Amino acid sequence: MTSNLVKINEKISLAAEDAGRDSADINLVAVSKVHVEETIRPVLEAGHKIFGENRVQEAAGKWPALKEDFPDIELHLIGPLQTNKVRQAIQLFDVIETVDRPKLARAIARISEEEGKPVDVYVQVNTGLEGQKAGASPDDADELICLCRDELRLSVKGVMCIPPFDEDPTEHFKLLKSIAERNGIKNVSMGMSGDFEKAIAHGATHVRVGTAIFGKRPGY
Ligand SMILES: *Cc1c(COP(=O)(O)O)cnc(C)c1O
Repeated sequence: MTSNLVKINEKISLAAEDAGRDSADINLVAVSKVHVEETIRPVLEAGHKIFGENRVQEAAGKWPALKEDFPDIELHLIGPLQTNKVRQAIQLFDVIETVDRPKLARAIARISEEEGKPVDVYVQVNTGLEGQKAGASPDDADELICLCRDELRLSVKGVMCIPPFDEDPTEHFKLLKSIAERNGIKNVSMGMSGDFEKAIAHGATHVRVGTAIFGKRPGY
Protein backbone atom coordinates (compact mmCIF):
# COMPACT_ATOMS: atom_id res chain seq x y z
CA MET A 1 0.00 0.00 0.00
CA THR A 2 2.62 2.51 1.01
CA SER A 3 4.86 1.55 -1.90
CA ASN A 4 1.87 2.22 -4.16
CA LEU A 5 1.43 5.59 -2.49
CA VAL A 6 5.06 6.48 -3.16
CA LYS A 7 4.68 5.40 -6.79
CA ILE A 8 1.55 7.46 -7.34
CA ASN A 9 3.13 10.52 -5.78
CA GLU A 10 6.09 10.11 -8.13
CA LYS A 11 3.78 9.80 -11.13
CA ILE A 12 1.93 12.92 -10.01
CA SER A 13 5.21 14.83 -9.83
CA LEU A 14 6.21 13.66 -13.31
CA ALA A 15 2.82 14.51 -14.78
CA ALA A 16 3.00 17.95 -13.18
CA GLU A 17 6.47 18.49 -14.59
CA ASP A 18 5.34 17.42 -18.07
CA ALA A 19 2.48 19.90 -17.84
CA GLY A 20 4.75 22.68 -16.63
CA ARG A 21 2.93 22.78 -13.32
CA ASP A 22 4.09 22.84 -9.71
CA SER A 23 3.40 19.43 -8.15
CA ALA A 24 2.55 21.23 -4.90
CA ASP A 25 -0.62 22.42 -6.65
CA ILE A 26 -1.84 18.87 -7.12
CA ASN A 27 -3.47 17.02 -4.25
CA LEU A 28 -3.90 13.29 -4.06
CA VAL A 29 -7.25 12.23 -2.61
CA ALA A 30 -6.71 8.62 -1.53
CA VAL A 31 -10.05 6.90 -2.14
CA SER A 32 -10.45 4.38 0.68
CA LYS A 33 -14.06 3.36 0.03
CA VAL A 34 -14.83 -0.30 0.75
CA HIS A 35 -11.46 -0.81 2.44
CA VAL A 36 -11.26 -1.59 6.15
CA GLU A 37 -9.39 0.37 8.80
CA GLU A 38 -6.39 -1.98 8.77
CA THR A 39 -5.90 -1.32 5.07
CA ILE A 40 -6.18 2.44 5.46
CA ARG A 41 -3.96 2.76 8.53
CA PRO A 42 -0.58 2.19 6.80
CA VAL A 43 -1.34 4.99 4.37
CA LEU A 44 -2.15 7.28 7.30
CA GLU A 45 1.04 6.20 9.03
CA ALA A 46 2.99 7.05 5.89
CA GLY A 47 1.80 10.61 6.44
CA HIS A 48 -0.91 10.87 3.83
CA LYS A 49 -3.58 13.40 4.81
CA ILE A 50 -6.37 13.58 2.22
CA PHE A 51 -8.87 10.75 1.87
CA GLY A 52 -12.09 10.22 -0.08
CA GLU A 53 -15.11 8.11 0.75
CA ASN A 54 -18.27 7.69 -1.30
CA ARG A 55 -20.77 6.58 1.35
CA VAL A 56 -21.66 8.53 4.47
CA GLN A 57 -22.74 5.47 6.43
CA GLU A 58 -19.61 3.51 5.65
CA ALA A 59 -17.35 6.45 6.46
CA ALA A 60 -19.17 7.01 9.75
CA GLY A 61 -18.34 3.42 10.68
CA LYS A 62 -14.59 3.66 10.25
CA TRP A 63 -13.33 7.25 10.24
CA PRO A 64 -14.17 8.50 13.75
CA ALA A 65 -11.72 5.93 15.19
CA LEU A 66 -9.06 6.68 12.58
CA LYS A 67 -9.46 10.41 13.13
CA GLU A 68 -8.74 9.97 16.82
CA ASP A 69 -5.27 8.74 15.94
CA PHE A 70 -4.80 11.02 12.93
CA PRO A 71 -6.72 14.20 13.75
CA ASP A 72 -5.33 16.44 11.02
CA ILE A 73 -6.62 14.53 8.03
CA GLU A 74 -8.97 16.02 5.44
CA LEU A 75 -11.90 13.83 4.50
CA HIS A 76 -13.73 14.33 1.18
CA LEU A 77 -17.17 12.99 0.35
CA ILE A 78 -17.05 11.93 -3.31
CA GLY A 79 -20.32 9.98 -3.60
CA PRO A 80 -23.94 11.08 -3.95
CA LEU A 81 -25.49 12.70 -0.88
CA GLN A 82 -29.13 12.44 0.12
CA THR A 83 -30.57 15.33 2.06
CA ASN A 84 -31.43 13.10 5.03
CA LYS A 85 -27.70 12.30 5.44
CA VAL A 86 -26.48 15.88 5.29
CA ARG A 87 -26.12 16.34 9.05
CA GLN A 88 -24.02 13.21 9.40
CA ALA A 89 -21.96 14.21 6.36
CA ILE A 90 -21.24 17.64 7.79
CA GLN A 91 -20.18 16.19 11.12
CA LEU A 92 -17.77 13.82 9.41
CA PHE A 93 -16.44 15.40 6.22
CA ASP A 94 -14.31 18.46 5.63
CA VAL A 95 -15.20 18.73 1.95
CA ILE A 96 -18.39 17.69 0.15
CA GLU A 97 -17.44 17.26 -3.51
CA THR A 98 -20.86 16.22 -4.75
CA VAL A 99 -23.16 19.22 -4.49
CA ASP A 100 -25.31 18.82 -7.58
CA ARG A 101 -28.71 20.41 -6.93
CA PRO A 102 -30.22 23.44 -5.22
CA LYS A 103 -32.13 21.40 -2.64
CA LEU A 104 -28.94 19.73 -1.45
CA ALA A 105 -27.05 23.03 -1.41
CA ARG A 106 -29.77 24.62 0.73
CA ALA A 107 -29.75 21.71 3.17
CA ILE A 108 -25.98 21.90 3.52
CA ALA A 109 -26.07 25.65 4.15
CA ARG A 110 -28.79 25.37 6.78
CA ILE A 111 -27.39 22.39 8.64
CA SER A 112 -23.81 23.61 8.51
CA GLU A 113 -25.03 26.78 10.22
CA GLU A 114 -27.04 24.80 12.81
CA GLU A 115 -24.07 22.58 13.56
CA GLY A 116 -21.69 25.52 13.69
CA LYS A 117 -19.42 23.54 11.41
CA PRO A 118 -18.30 25.09 8.14
CA VAL A 119 -17.77 22.72 5.25
CA ASP A 120 -16.11 23.32 1.90
CA VAL A 121 -18.17 22.34 -1.10
CA TYR A 122 -17.44 21.43 -4.70
CA VAL A 123 -20.13 21.51 -7.36
CA GLN A 124 -20.34 18.22 -9.23
CA VAL A 125 -20.86 18.56 -12.97
CA ASN A 126 -22.29 15.80 -15.11
CA THR A 127 -20.04 16.63 -18.05
CA GLY A 128 -21.24 13.63 -20.05
CA LEU A 129 -24.93 14.43 -19.48
CA GLU A 130 -25.42 10.82 -18.43
CA GLY A 131 -28.94 10.10 -17.28
CA GLN A 132 -27.98 7.82 -14.42
CA LYS A 133 -25.12 9.95 -13.13
CA ALA A 134 -25.29 12.68 -10.49
CA GLY A 135 -24.13 16.20 -11.22
CA ALA A 136 -25.47 19.48 -12.51
CA SER A 137 -25.51 19.74 -16.28
CA PRO A 138 -22.73 21.95 -17.66
CA ASP A 139 -25.41 24.52 -18.55
CA ASP A 140 -26.77 24.62 -14.99
CA ALA A 141 -23.40 24.63 -13.26
CA ASP A 142 -22.87 28.41 -13.23
CA GLU A 143 -26.29 29.02 -11.76
CA LEU A 144 -25.78 26.43 -9.02
CA ILE A 145 -22.36 27.88 -8.21
CA CYS A 146 -23.93 31.36 -7.92
CA LEU A 147 -26.70 30.06 -5.67
CA CYS A 148 -24.18 28.34 -3.39
CA ARG A 149 -21.85 31.31 -3.23
CA ASP A 150 -24.02 34.40 -3.34
CA GLU A 151 -27.27 33.36 -1.77
CA LEU A 152 -26.29 30.52 0.54
CA ARG A 153 -22.83 31.85 1.43
CA LEU A 154 -21.28 28.43 1.07
CA SER A 155 -17.56 28.15 0.61
CA VAL A 156 -17.41 26.89 -2.98
CA LYS A 157 -13.84 25.72 -3.32
CA GLY A 158 -14.06 23.46 -6.32
CA VAL A 159 -15.79 21.62 -9.12
CA MET A 160 -15.74 17.90 -9.69
CA CYS A 161 -16.63 15.45 -12.45
CA ILE A 162 -16.71 11.74 -13.19
CA PRO A 163 -16.46 11.35 -16.98
CA PRO A 164 -18.29 8.51 -18.73
CA PHE A 165 -16.31 5.30 -18.30
CA ASP A 166 -16.38 4.39 -21.98
CA GLU A 167 -15.06 7.66 -23.40
CA ASP A 168 -11.78 9.47 -23.68
CA PRO A 169 -12.00 11.83 -20.70
CA THR A 170 -10.08 14.67 -22.38
CA GLU A 171 -13.08 16.74 -23.45
CA HIS A 172 -14.68 16.27 -20.03
CA PHE A 173 -11.54 17.43 -18.26
CA LYS A 174 -11.34 20.50 -20.51
CA LEU A 175 -14.99 21.33 -19.94
CA LEU A 176 -14.70 21.07 -16.16
CA LYS A 177 -11.56 23.20 -16.13
CA SER A 178 -13.31 25.86 -18.22
CA ILE A 179 -16.27 25.91 -15.83
CA ALA A 180 -13.85 26.41 -12.93
CA GLU A 181 -12.02 29.21 -14.71
CA ARG A 182 -15.04 31.19 -15.78
CA ASN A 183 -16.37 31.06 -12.21
CA GLY A 184 -13.07 31.90 -10.55
CA ILE A 185 -12.93 28.55 -8.78
CA LYS A 186 -9.53 27.21 -7.83
CA ASN A 187 -9.96 23.50 -7.20
CA VAL A 188 -10.70 21.05 -9.99
CA SER A 189 -11.31 17.46 -8.88
CA MET A 190 -10.93 15.04 -11.78
CA GLY A 191 -8.93 11.98 -12.71
CA MET A 192 -8.91 8.52 -11.14
CA SER A 193 -6.47 5.57 -11.16
CA GLY A 194 -6.65 5.14 -14.93
CA ASP A 195 -6.43 8.75 -16.05
CA PHE A 196 -5.06 11.00 -13.32
CA GLU A 197 -2.00 11.94 -15.38
CA LYS A 198 -4.21 13.13 -18.20
CA ALA A 199 -6.33 15.05 -15.70
CA ILE A 200 -3.20 16.78 -14.39
CA ALA A 201 -2.30 17.76 -17.94
CA HIS A 202 -5.69 19.43 -18.17
CA GLY A 203 -5.55 21.31 -14.90
CA ALA A 204 -6.70 18.98 -12.11
CA THR A 205 -5.82 20.20 -8.62
CA HIS A 206 -7.29 17.10 -6.96
CA VAL A 207 -7.00 13.59 -8.35
CA ARG A 208 -9.07 10.84 -6.72
CA VAL A 209 -7.13 7.59 -6.73
CA GLY A 210 -8.35 4.38 -5.13
CA THR A 211 -7.36 1.16 -6.87
CA ALA A 212 -3.81 2.25 -7.70
CA ILE A 213 -3.13 2.82 -3.99
CA PHE A 214 -5.21 0.24 -2.15
CA GLY A 215 -5.50 -2.44 -4.80
CA LYS A 216 -8.65 -3.87 -6.30
CA ARG A 217 -11.73 -3.31 -4.21
CA PRO A 218 -13.20 -6.51 -2.81
CA GLY A 219 -16.44 -7.33 -4.57
CA TYR A 220 -15.74 -5.19 -7.65
C1 LIG B 1 -14.14 5.04 -6.54
C2 LIG B 1 -14.00 6.42 -7.01
C3 LIG B 1 -12.75 6.92 -7.41
C4 LIG B 1 -11.48 6.09 -7.43
O1 LIG B 1 -11.50 5.21 -8.50
P1 LIG B 1 -10.23 4.27 -8.84
O2 LIG B 1 -10.45 3.88 -10.22
O3 LIG B 1 -10.28 3.13 -7.88
O4 LIG B 1 -9.02 5.10 -8.64
C5 LIG B 1 -12.69 8.24 -7.80
N1 LIG B 1 -13.78 9.04 -7.78
C6 LIG B 1 -14.99 8.60 -7.40
C7 LIG B 1 -16.14 9.52 -7.41
C8 LIG B 1 -15.15 7.27 -7.00
O5 LIG B 1 -16.36 6.85 -6.63
